[in-house]
Amino acid sequence: MAIKITNKCINCGACEPECPNTAIYEGGKKWRMSDGTSLKKNKILDSTIFQKPKKKDIYFVVTEKCTECVGFYDVPQCVIVCPVQCCIQDKKNFENKDKLMKKKNFLHGGH
Ligand code: SF4
Ligand code: SF4
Repeated sequence: MAIKITNKCINCGACEPECPNTAIYEGGKKWRMSDGTSLKKNKILDSTIFQKPKKKDIYFVVTEKCTECVGFYDVPQCVIVCPVQCCIQDKKNFENKDKLMKKKNFLHGGH
């Protein structure tokens, strides 16, 4: 399951540098699959294209990049550091550990 950030976010920025997948961005920032990953441009997917921000006013998690820290840490780092507990499980995006590990390998080339 990916993590999502709720409206309780106070924009402190503590979570962003802790994410091993660079899946957290400040509100209003454009994001790329290639940021902090080993993905490059290829014929099927250009990972270097800037995507629209998912939220304008608060920090957001790019679901496509969040592995719930699987492959790096035992527990989601953003959940630990957030001072207002607004990083929570995104039940709409359920993924089991196996799928999250595959996502991690996809992002970081650990095939
Ligand atoms: Fe990043 Fe881990 Fe939080 Fe997902 S759970 S957004 S990978 S720090
Ligand atoms: Fe928002 Fe929590 Fe991240 Fe701070 S640590 S920016 S409050 S989600």
